[in-house]
Amino acid sequence: MGRFDAVLFDAGGVLVLPDPTVLRPLLTPYGGADDTEVHRRAHYAGMANKSRQRSEEVDWTSYNTAYVGAVGVADDTIAHAASVLDHTRSAHLWRWPIPETLVALGSLARDGVPMGVVSNASGQIEEVLLRAGVCQVGAGPGVAMRVVIDSHVVGVAKPDPRIFDFALPHFAEFDPERIVYVGDSVTMDIASAGEAGLHPVLIDPYDDHPDADFERVTSVQALLDWF
Ligand SMILES: [Mg+2]
Repeated sequence: MGRFDAVLFDAGGVLVLPDPTVLRPLLTPYGGADDTEVHRRAHYAGMANKSRQRSEEVDWTSYNTAYVGAVGVADDTIAHAASVLDHTRSAHLWRWPIPETLVALGSLARDGVPMGVVSNASGQIEEVLLRAGVCQVGAGPGVAMRVVIDSHVVGVAKPDPRIFDFALPHFAEFDPERIVYVGDSVTMDIASAGEAGLHPVLIDPYDDHPDADFERVTSVQALLDWF
């Protein structure tokens, strides 16, 4: 028997990223690198700064500033480029599947690991994940999930742990302590999943949180050893 019985995923930063094929040309006029890998790194730099500043979920100022800095925008242009990013990065732009995650989801599905999604979103995440070919509830073009919870739809958002109450009935045969929740936000994901009785894990591909007192993985692929 493995460490865990099931896994729930945050969507943003775990399954999908703000689409770098849109954000690369958006930010090149301000000195941003036209490089997907640089933009991937910038997302986690943004999330780390957002958590460091203890920003509310709706306040992305610190994320935007760190993101444009990480793609190479010069200091005297950061405020303007951050504003451009803020006006462009809508909920629907969180649609670029993380390649390593797609591979890992396929492996977890083949191993029969029960999975679900719990996301702070805007009512769009289930359709975006379907169209991106990542996953859907039940059988389909992506990996089968038992449930996809969108905070806008259920009316409760992380860090309120009650958002997990909408997912856990779909995993009722398991002890919540043996269900992993993988997220990319210290402030939104870690404490709330712990309060809900789950085992929280932070996806931290660039070691932005070396002093963490909770478990971290560098990618979703690391979970494959846990089931
Ligand atoms: Mg996230």
